[in-house]
Amino acid sequence: MSKDCIFCKIIKGDIPTDKIYEDENVVAFNDINPKSPTHILVVPKKHVASLNEVKPDDMNMILHVFDAIKKITAKQGIAEDGYRVIVNTNRASGQEVFHIHFHIMGGRQLGGMG
Ligand code: 5GP
Ligand code: ZN
Repeated sequence: MSKDCIFCKIIKGDIPTDKIYEDENVVAFNDINPKSPTHILVVPKKHVASLNEVKPDDMNMILHVFDAIKKITAKQGIAEDGYRVIVNTNRASGQEVFHIHFHIMGGRQLGGMG
């Protein structure tokens, strides 16, 4: 938990959000500014600022994230067509929220990687 972190506030319930998925390790909710018909953020409950700060002990958390992504995309009906998972990391990527999160983008034909 980091006091000024918007995703920690969402996880704690201080900021209301329609949670799509929750288990003991992760939460998922719709991105407030969707870039595709399905644009979901999967957020580990543990506050880690970015992929750069992930420690060996956090690797289980990363596995939990991908397990959640499999469940969410199947439930949302985008698994078969396909989707993209994005983890922006630090300045060059345009990372805005410094609590590690995994974008799931789908529901349309996604363009080439830019
Ligand atoms: P980043 O650029 O850090 O990878 O992406 C942060 C994402 O979080 C952006 O796509 C932005 O629209 C989304 N976001 C920022 N604040 C909020 C919020 O309060 N609620 C939700 N649902 N999404 C947010
Ligand atoms: Zn946080």
